[in-house]
Amino acid sequence: MSVTKEDMVKFLDGNPDFAANYFSKKLKAGAIASVLKRPESKVDFESFREVSQVEEGELMFDVVKDMQESVNMEKVVFKILKRICVLTHADRCSLFMYRQRNGIAELATRLFNVSKDSELDDCIVPPDSEIVFPLDIGIVGNVAQTKKPVNVKDVTQNSNFSTFVDELTEYTTRNLMATPIMNGKDVVAVIMAVNKTTGPYFTAEDEDLFSKYLKVATLNLKIHQLNYLHNCETRKGQVLLWSANKVFEELTDIERQFHKALYTVRAYLNCDRYSVGLLDMTKDKEFFDIWPILMGEQAPYSGPVTPDGREVIFYKVIDYILHGKEDIKVIPNPPADHWAMVSGLPTYVAESGFICNIMNAAAEEMFKFQSEPLDDSGWTIKNVLSLPIVNKKEEIVGVATFYNRKDGKPFDESDEQLMEALTQFLGWSALNTDTYDKMNKLENRKDIAQDMVLYHVKCRDDEIQNILKTREVYGTEPRDCEEEELLAILKKELPGPRKFEIYEFRFSDFDCTEMDLVKCGIQMYYEVGVVKKFQVPQEVLVRFMYSLSKGYRKITYHNWRHGFNVGQTMFTLLTTGNLKRYYTDLEVMAMITAGFLHDIDHRGTNNLYQVKSGNPLAKLHGSSILERHHLDFGKFLLADESLNIFQNLNRRQTEHVFHLIDIAIIATDLALYFKKRTMFQKIVDLSHTYEDDKKWVDFMSLETTRKEILMAMMMTACDLSAITKPWEVQSKVALSVAAEFWEQGDLERTVLEQQPIPMMDRNKSAELPKLQCGFIDFVCTFVYKEFSRFHGQIQPMLDGILNNRKEWNALKEEYEAKLKVLEEEKKAKEEAAAAKQGFCFFIHLLYLDLNGIGQHLMNIKLYHVMQPTTPVEEHQEGQRHVQSARAPES
Ligand SMILES: [Zn+2]
Repeated sequence: MSVTKEDMVKFLDGNPDFAANYFSKKLKAGAIASVLKRPESKVDFESFREVSQVEEGELMFDVVKDMQESVNMEKVVFKILKRICVLTHADRCSLFMYRQRNGIAELATRLFNVSKDSELDDCIVPPDSEIVFPLDIGIVGNVAQTKKPVNVKDVTQNSNFSTFVDELTEYTTRNLMATPIMNGKDVVAVIMAVNKTTGPYFTAEDEDLFSKYLKVATLNLKIHQLNYLHNCETRKGQVLLWSANKVFEELTDIERQFHKALYTVRAYLNCDRYSVGLLDMTKDKEFFDIWPILMGEQAPYSGPVTPDGREVIFYKVIDYILHGKEDIKVIPNPPADHWAMVSGLPTYVAESGFICNIMNAAAEEMFKFQSEPLDDSGWTIKNVLSLPIVNKKEEIVGVATFYNRKDGKPFDESDEQLMEALTQFLGWSALNTDTYDKMNKLENRKDIAQDMVLYHVKCRDDEIQNILKTREVYGTEPRDCEEEELLAILKKELPGPRKFEIYEFRFSDFDCTEMDLVKCGIQMYYEVGVVKKFQVPQEVLVRFMYSLSKGYRKITYHNWRHGFNVGQTMFTLLTTGNLKRYYTDLEVMAMITAGFLHDIDHRGTNNLYQVKSGNPLAKLHGSSILERHHLDFGKFLLADESLNIFQNLNRRQTEHVFHLIDIAIIATDLALYFKKRTMFQKIVDLSHTYEDDKKWVDFMSLETTRKEILMAMMMTACDLSAITKPWEVQSKVALSVAAEFWEQGDLERTVLEQQPIPMMDRNKSAELPKLQCGFIDFVCTFVYKEFSRFHGQIQPMLDGILNNRKEWNALKEEYEAKLKVLEEEKKAKEEAAAAKQGFCFFIHLLYLDLNGIGQHLMNIKLYHVMQPTTPVEEHQEGQRHVQSARAPES
């Protein structure tokens, strides 16, 4: 039996149930395609409207298979969008992903312009060409915001429509359908179909189809979202775990801390590169940095400040490079044009405390990032996420900036949260380190304090009888005597103003015992009339001066003799130099006391040595290490009531005294000398503009800052005063200074295994005259020239230094002349010896000879040689800091 086409149609028309059943079982998209002898994608399923519903099952199966194999969201959604195009006759479909940056929601294209003939690779949007728009722009944005689907039959009639994307892609949107993809209450994405090709707009039927198909897309997008969030959570967990672990593991120094935490989590940060800028935490500036502002020489700082009022100063940047070859770079004091700083973003974050997420660095207008590659790899900045690192006190301690997410996509809300969690940990760790630092400081302080006590500084009851002889005179202890009775003893015991020339700039301690110097010191307090005026108990004054002398160690130069000399010069500058006229008696007392105290407990080595040798002092103080220690030590003594000569001052007076002592002692750090030079010079210049002396004094007396600068410069003038003494004094003292340097040089060679600088190298001792000339020219002369110009009474100091300059220069020239002769001889002999054997032997001889000349110069011209330092008994009468002064050998 043959069946004609007509029979078949007739049968099927008459048996619709059969037809439906048959097609649902048998006819599939593949069959249609094969019937049409076309690839499946080319089949116009529109003519198989009902059939396509059958084919839906096939698609679902396909999609589910894809989802099982891998969660490739883009691939699955792409397939669905293609079907939607076919079924609804949409010209194009697109997928927009929802995300948040900087706390602001936005949509970004992920699959764009999918049509029924598209290939996945043409539609998937690479991260660097995303179209991003906030929710208040466009219909799609509005859908994400309202979380409701729309069918816009004519976009020109819709107030939400924006031509933004059309203009960008040169396309004309006429009508569209859009629907949000939700995960619970959260929008995950928006899917849009544009321009019905077979009609004026999408129908209600299209809407049904659209939403039906999107159920699958939703499922897939949900899985994708969950998977991503899960990843983030895992990463977050790991980051927290690692940082917590590392943060508490080793609490030492703050930077190492930061570094360790950041380095450990590098694998989880999901970015190419990141840098951490550490902020200067100091709130109060040092006096020497405030002066130029107070003096109007420097404009007050007007740059950015942190929310707690600190100047934004990145003192160090640590740069972590994770792309290509891993590397870490530490950039101390990064210049403003350093790539990590040049955009101004870290400064902005430090100032505002905001999290800044910037997705296209090249197009950014507010911050101009370096657009050229940062290194040979050609790597450039694309996306940037910058966050403040905040400690528990809510102070911004640094700024962490992350560059280029590893997958090329912009940083999103999850990254922000993750990085924020990390930076919080860093902040806390900073606080912990802070606390630890403080404890550490206390530990160091304790060690040092014990050191002080161990040194038995405090004047004992039996010792005070060396001066305050109450046992001998009254048969009692000083504490049982009236002030008048003590004064009677002191009048007899103290040397008086003239015996040791304490009012003279040329004063020398050579003929004084250390005890004489203690007495001279006490004498000075009487001379300036402060003992009675400020009710200094005399027993306390004696004990204080005595203890102070014991506080100096028995070292070659920075011993009690040097301490006394500085106090004496301060006394002389104030009295003989007439500088007292600008200061109150209380200030005079503070300044003389600061002079005596200024080098107490000096170790005979300089600041650099403390750092290099890892002395606890270097851990305690960042700069002016020794000076801060001398100051601490002095305050430590004054904290003891039995030594506190300021005990009868009121609070305001006490504060003022300690403020001045603080400045005066720190000012003796020569490293600060150049900071105050010009300011001092300007004061001297200013004094010459006053014709009326009294008016000038009245003016200066009220100028707090100028008085402090003058005082600081006086401390330098006192500290260097040996250079102004008569030649026989200067030549000896210079040698003891040099000897102490050489001792440090020896320590550097033996303990630190380093080659000392020439000044500290005893093998270069012959260069001393040259070094002295340099020191006089570059540092000292200015000080005494200016002081003589300021007050004519100080001229003897300038005369002294000029004379010593001549003497040192003569020695220098003599040495150089001999050197020249030797060199000529050497040259002549070389020429002769070149022909002969034994050349090397000659050089050896010459070397010895040269050293010999240096030694010879020292012995003959300086009239004495240094002996090796030997331990000395305390208070041995006639004790010298230069232990032996020999007569000339010739
Ligand atoms: Zn000194």
